[in-house]
Amino acid sequence: MKSIKAKKGSFGYAYGRAYVIDKDINITKQNVTDIDSELKRLDAAVKNVDSNLKKAKSNADEETAPIIDAQIAMLYDKSFLEEVRRMINDEAVCGEYAVSEIGRSLAEQFEEMDNSYLNVRSADIRGISERLCRQLMGKDEEIIPDTPSVVCAYELTPELVSTIDKTNIKAFVSQKGTKTSHVSILCGNYGIPYLFGVDLFGEGIETGVELAVDTEKATLYIEPTDEIKKRIDESATQKCMQEEADLGDSVKICANIGSVKEAEAAAEAGADGIGLFRTEFLYMGAQLPTEEEQFEVYKAVATAMSGKTVIIRTMDIGADKKSPCVKLSPQDNPALGKRAIRICLEERDLFKNQLRAILRAANYGDVKIMYPMITSVAEIERINEILQEAINELEAENVAYSVPSQGVMIETPSAALLSDQLAAKVDFFSIGTNDLTQYTLAVDRMAEELDDYFDTHSEAVMRLIKMVVKNAHAAGIWVGICGELGGDEWAVPRLLEMGIDELSVSPSKINRVKALVADVMKSDTQDEAKLGTEIMCAPADGKVIRMSEIPDPAFSGGMLGKCMGIIPDNGNVYAPCDGEVYMIAETKHAIGIMSDYGNDVLIHVGIDTVSLGGKGFDVLVSENDRVTKGMLIMKIDRDVIRAANLSDMIITVVKEK
Ligand code: PEP
Ligand code: MG
Repeated sequence: MKSIKAKKGSFGYAYGRAYVIDKDINITKQNVTDIDSELKRLDAAVKNVDSNLKKAKSNADEETAPIIDAQIAMLYDKSFLEEVRRMINDEAVCGEYAVSEIGRSLAEQFEEMDNSYLNVRSADIRGISERLCRQLMGKDEEIIPDTPSVVCAYELTPELVSTIDKTNIKAFVSQKGTKTSHVSILCGNYGIPYLFGVDLFGEGIETGVELAVDTEKATLYIEPTDEIKKRIDESATQKCMQEEADLGDSVKICANIGSVKEAEAAAEAGADGIGLFRTEFLYMGAQLPTEEEQFEVYKAVATAMSGKTVIIRTMDIGADKKSPCVKLSPQDNPALGKRAIRICLEERDLFKNQLRAILRAANYGDVKIMYPMITSVAEIERINEILQEAINELEAENVAYSVPSQGVMIETPSAALLSDQLAAKVDFFSIGTNDLTQYTLAVDRMAEELDDYFDTHSEAVMRLIKMVVKNAHAAGIWVGICGELGGDEWAVPRLLEMGIDELSVSPSKINRVKALVADVMKSDTQDEAKLGTEIMCAPADGKVIRMSEIPDPAFSGGMLGKCMGIIPDNGNVYAPCDGEVYMIAETKHAIGIMSDYGNDVLIHVGIDTVSLGGKGFDVLVSENDRVTKGMLIMKIDRDVIRAANLSDMIITVVKEK
């Protein structure tokens, strides 16, 4: 068996035989003499693709249908089809060549744009041009795996995922991909697990090889053992139920522990998992703990938590945490000296020992691994080298293991400031506010006489946390708090407002923090109800999209304020409240209203519609106009917006006074 780290596109567990899609469309430049009949051949192919997509749309659910619509719009997009026709005409080349050249160049243009939303559109254009090429080559036969399969491709396209017969598809795997792509969204809609970031061809994955997918661990297993398959079967039933039950639970309340006994207390207290397992107690003896001793402890904790997440932090000796068996030479500033990961990266064997024990214990539950005192991306790269060494050793010794998800503690200002780069390297963050406060405020956390300077509600630290949450969510990873601030009454509402995903506190605080969170949620709902019934009305008729599902991190991450989306039924946009228009965007796609209640309300039509330069928008009000709730303030031409392959979702952002 071999396990490969990947990235999670959509949640789930599955196994089956690889079904590698060989695109087999080797296109060469052929000249044609009869341009008219080549153009007719192109038209016929476009017609067939169009009717295949429409057929797929008639079976699609309401979330998938707009994605197929976007594909159809892309097929007829002027910058695509007209350019293809122009190339055939001017250069007398065959349709296949023109389609693949124009498709490639458009996809590259999308990729180069400085906007993640437009970047992911490159897969859309690739998908449609591949489908059209296959059609022109007479190779548009349906891909229908006839045994339970994990469909693998260099790059999956929304068009393929939406039209393929999914009866026997257990999972999707691709080399290229992103968390926010249409492919990830579609797989999520279909409930099919999806991993990307796998070097399929480098790993020699061919049709027929058995594969297992565990998106919780973001791992692909080649030739999985029976034990792995059993675990996948169990997880598939347990976790899917749990995922459903958890729906709507916006924050997990986990426990910080330092021993097996505390894990039992955490389970008893109803913790959602272990957010921080401090492993230093293992290093309190005269001798370094053996791999076996560590493995037994980690396994016992994983078992005590019965499948719930256990985040094991690698040893954090140094500064305030002294160990008789890890000898450190005297340091003038121990908190700024050799500590935690700095020791581990120098004492490779000591570190590898712990990593091996964690890898082995990961076979007994949902174990994740976390590194303390990180200050740079280079450290992650060095850690990964040692982790790979540990994996190679276990593999060679035929010892059972599993590769856990990896996270870092954000507890130095450097890590917080580099959190955008770190987020690309790991699966989660946990903010250690105890050290983050110490290092940000330059106050020794152990010095009692400096207590007054150790401001646990420091504005500087709160700003860093906000930045970390934003960067984590923009990269599609989750972020928790495992420092004392996670249980602080003043901080909890503020952390929830920032969008924190997990609070981890000592087992004795679990119930109190749960009650605190429930309170905040209740008052949030009451606030929302107040906004909805007393002030706001929907700005359009249509289907409501929750904030977290708006496919643009600027909105879903809450960077601009609380928001919601509506997929409109028609082109009318109404004022959601009484107030005054204070802003109309130059490109007409957005209107700002200051409501009579003092809330700043932004009506933003579509995503990236600024690129239309005002085309498709007819604003019926002017700046400084008074508007009343329900008044028609804008008309949009949905066909123009959709033809540009842009979403026409009406997004309402509310920044409360
Ligand atoms: C922290 O620094 O906030 C943290 C959780 O780690 P420790 O307290 O173990 O240093
Ligand atoms: Mg710390």
